Amino acid sequence: MEEKRIKKNLDRVQENIEIYSPKPEDVILIAVTKYFGVDVIEELLDFGIDTFGENKAQVLKEKYEYFKEKFPDKDIKWHFIGNLQKNKVKYIAPFITLIHSVNKLSLVEEIDKRAKQNNRVIDVLIEINVSGEESKEGYIYHDFMLDLPHLLKLENINIIGLMTMAPFIEPEACRSVFGELASIQKDLNKRYFNGKLTKLSMGMSNDYQIALEEGANLIRIGRKLYE
Ligand SMILES: *Cc1c(COP(=O)(O)O)cnc(C)c1O
Repeated sequence: MEEKRIKKNLDRVQENIEIYSPKPEDVILIAVTKYFGVDVIEELLDFGIDTFGENKAQVLKEKYEYFKEKFPDKDIKWHFIGNLQKNKVKYIAPFITLIHSVNKLSLVEEIDKRAKQNNRVIDVLIEINVSGEESKEGYIYHDFMLDLPHLLKLENINIIGLMTMAPFIEPEACRSVFGELASIQKDLNKRYFNGKLTKLSMGMSNDYQIALEEGANLIRIGRKLYE
């Protein structure tokens, strides 16, 4: 990977955070590294990036172990961003910083159980299928509301926000989806969470500027960093 190119791409994304976000100081750029091995992550670390997103539990565990051994003093934050299978939670439960994609009760219960075994509380985001498309992962809002009383009782998970994947190719068409997620966040904060849902994970390479305008404070950027 050509370092200069990555640096230029990073600078552009960071400039856009300043331009598009109403609160740029709150925005965390998650460098999605699922396409590459540890060498690219090392380059990104050199540029001051410390938060990485991966979507395969076993691969994530291997990368985590590599960096823990090589740079034990670096405080690297690992985010799980893709569809998480229940039987894979055990690989990431000991160290994961944030799981973005909690979308069913059985998965939350497994995360809670594994967190307990590891003596920790795991931060999670609830993935909402805002558009209601069947092909999309994520809770339909109504189903989430049915599970919510149970979720609020689990002691080893900490729900700190919401995540969505925009369904459209056309970035401008994502705006309503992002806006809707932001308004769900507001509503849930008022009614159940007392302001505790502070994170909104939305926006990828194609549409992160629009997500930022709509209030995203976690953006998950992959391809744009490497092109
Ligand atoms: C791969 C992936 C991303 C990054 O996508 P890019 O288009 O490469 O920016 C973001 N979020 C999730 C859930 C992903 O799986």
